[in-house]
Amino acid sequence: MPVRPSPRSPTLLAALLAALLAGCGGSAPPAAERPPDVLLLVIDTLRADRLGSYGYPQPTSPRLDALAAAGVRFENAVAPSTWTKPSMAALFSGRYPSELGLAGSETTELEKTTAVLPAGVELLAERFARGGYRTLAVLNQIHLDPRWGFARGFEHYRRLDHYDAFGLNSELRELLVAGDDRPVFAWLHYFDVHWPYMRQVRGLPDDLFGPRELAVSPRISMHEIVERMRADPDRELAARLSNRYDAEVRYADEAAGAMLDFLERTGRLANTIVVVTADHGEQFLEHGEFGHGNLPYDEEARIPLLVLAPQRFGFAAGVRRTPANLLDVGPTLLELAGLAADPTARGRSLAAALSGEESLDGAAVTQTDRAWAARGARHKLLQFTEGRREFYELAADPGEHDDRAAAGCTGPCAALADFLEQLAGRLESGAGASSGVELTAAETERLRSLGYL
Ligand SMILES: [Zn+2]
Repeated sequence: MPVRPSPRSPTLLAALLAALLAGCGGSAPPAAERPPDVLLLVIDTLRADRLGSYGYPQPTSPRLDALAAAGVRFENAVAPSTWTKPSMAALFSGRYPSELGLAGSETTELEKTTAVLPAGVELLAERFARGGYRTLAVLNQIHLDPRWGFARGFEHYRRLDHYDAFGLNSELRELLVAGDDRPVFAWLHYFDVHWPYMRQVRGLPDDLFGPRELAVSPRISMHEIVERMRADPDRELAARLSNRYDAEVRYADEAAGAMLDFLERTGRLANTIVVVTADHGEQFLEHGEFGHGNLPYDEEARIPLLVLAPQRFGFAAGVRRTPANLLDVGPTLLELAGLAADPTARGRSLAAALSGEESLDGAAVTQTDRAWAARGARHKLLQFTEGRREFYELAADPGEHDDRAAAGCTGPCAALADFLEQLAGRLESGAGASSGVELTAAETERLRSLGYL
């Protein structure tokens, strides 16, 4: 009997074709009915504006630019905070850093470093595991140690300090190849773009991103650099470090490309939702500071958010201006995978935006100890804890140097201030669940060398 699917049902047509092609030899469901695999690639410390697709003129990111061109690029995406732990804790728990006790000057840096994720909250990986997914994490990040709760829900959790992006790729490839029939949720977290930017500069032409030699020892700690820059902002040193940073971005880009090539070669890519993002950016004295964990200006708060989804979702390639947050990644992935979202999560699914239904009225929030920022598609407000505000018109002033709040906070400034005030009213301040774990001397030393504690 001839099959005459309705032309309005491309999914049904694809399913029927896949069933016909699959023949009667196997029990595996047709490709179109199989839940999508997920690859969540987080490139630590990658600020959005250092990628070509976000306007950077240097050749830092040919592979990610190709991904952005084939998929969806969120132009106005921010991290929930400006350092790793609160940002990633927010992504996995669906809670704002302030609710987790990870933003706010009342908690010490050591307390934040050793705090655990709230036991009563089901984390993103746990939801995927409960939904029948094989859950894998491969990362190099001391702040994401299993002791703080980040491994919850992961069947395999490999935290591998000192592994570069290609080394992490190999570990993930091994886990993928050893898999079974279940769909996969994989989190891959590169550390190469983070300080000290000295791992991978070899292999690139010396002057590709401008001079990279340093007058200081490249082994100087982040802590020392930050202190030195505070005492005496050295723009020449900052520029050279920035060039080194660009070289690391290029290295991470090549590794990301290699991972995508592997997925393609093994037939996985066509059924994988790939999300590429970052936990925060990096500052090179744009607002008088160096590194990250400072104020939520764009160089530290604005991150890339790229999504490449299987064709059957029908997302048109292109740019979306809807304000987005790492908090939205969990609800989005769960919806696309057909799994229930956490009804108490603060983020919202970006599925409608991926389908082209933009919503430009909202704002995405970044929280730090000293200020919260609400970033809309056109404007941004910083609300400092001492009560002061700054307001920026992003199209005319993307560098956030021309504060308009002094002239009075009305119109869009008042709307964003209202938005933040209402959000603050809804959020209960978390005390930060102490783990009671003490850091070893080696951990303390490593954290210091990376600029923490
Ligand atoms: Zn980080």
